[in-house]
Amino acid sequence: MATRKEDTPLPGVGRLPRQIGHAGGHTPGPTVICVAGMHGNEPAGIRALHRVLGKIEDGMVSLRGELIGLAGNLPAIAVGKRYLAHDLNRRWIPERVGALDRGRLSDEDSEDQEQRALLVELRQWMGRARGDIFVIDLHTTSAPTVPFVILGDTLRNREFARGLPTSIVIGVDEQLVGTLSDYVTSLGHVSIGFEAGQHQDPASVDYHEAAIWLMLVRSGALDRADVPDLDRFREMLEEFRKSLPPVMEIFDRHGVSRGDGFVMRPGFRNFQKVTRGEHLADDRSGEIRAPGNHRLFLPLYQGLGDEGFFLARPVNPLWLIISSWLRSTRLPAIAPRLPGVRRHPESQDRLVVNRRVARLLPREFFHLLGFRVRTEDRDHLVVAHREGGSPEE
Ligand SMILES: [Zn+2]
Repeated sequence: MATRKEDTPLPGVGRLPRQIGHAGGHTPGPTVICVAGMHGNEPAGIRALHRVLGKIEDGMVSLRGELIGLAGNLPAIAVGKRYLAHDLNRRWIPERVGALDRGRLSDEDSEDQEQRALLVELRQWMGRARGDIFVIDLHTTSAPTVPFVILGDTLRNREFARGLPTSIVIGVDEQLVGTLSDYVTSLGHVSIGFEAGQHQDPASVDYHEAAIWLMLVRSGALDRADVPDLDRFREMLEEFRKSLPPVMEIFDRHGVSRGDGFVMRPGFRNFQKVTRGEHLADDRSGEIRAPGNHRLFLPLYQGLGDEGFFLARPVNPLWLIISSWLRSTRLPAIAPRLPGVRRHPESQDRLVVNRRVARLLPREFFHLLGFRVRTEDRDHLVVAHREGGSPEE
């Protein structure tokens, strides 16, 4: 998104309390938790939450259920950096959360302390919920982008995301381990990420605000008629949908580590089409070129980050219909009985697929049934159900 001429880039937001604000709680309804500033250099979501909570406080609208705004990485927000020691949105792995709870992490860093404080808040609000729980993680990107939704592909997440007139990106939970959204989904709640635009673009605040209102309506916390500008907010986001496929899938990740010397070539936009052999970036080993004709996803234009870029491709709408249908059948529950498939010996919620025996069951088959691939080698795939646990037989 190009910065509008009259606007100056967004300044940081400085020191903040963990709770950005709270509204509702007087009548039963959903619990909507919006997290902003999970990355400290992304102030747009925080500003948008101030706007929405301010309008609710002014009595413009009244909520069913509750809306809670939480700030993510406070020390990183204070200095306007993505993170201090490690990325706070790559460590929401259930085993790691367990170790954090038990005080068993050696070398606790600033982000571990932030995660513990956020967990306390999340558990408190989830614990008092009287209806469905929705957790929305608000982000922006280092490259220019149109707004979009990113989600772990469960049917409930998909259904919720339909409330936003933007493109949807799936497959992130296979390429990125340990996002908050992924963790909340594995607890059985609805969770999506919303990416509003470039970090410094003032329009990102508008798009975040539009998304928050639309998601409050989608969750049932508000009726359409309750939000004065709802049509304008919807049109604001709808405008971008024309230029992109409605659903895309991330299928490849170019990881980077400190010392790689990774530098993205200038000028790429998020979702830009690239062609096979196109020069995308450089690092110490030389030129990095596109392996095929795909869409570039989240090219890295900031100092900190573990991913140089991802590659994405469109998802056939028919695939979505078929996968919705298959997941409503008993097939996911009887998957462990298919030839070449068995339960993981150490983890009840995972399946081990012997690729030599189950040659006709590629990874896409398990995607259709609602599983994601956790690890793979030449002989085996290990898959886990996206909603956590295993479908009951
Ligand atoms: Zn972010």
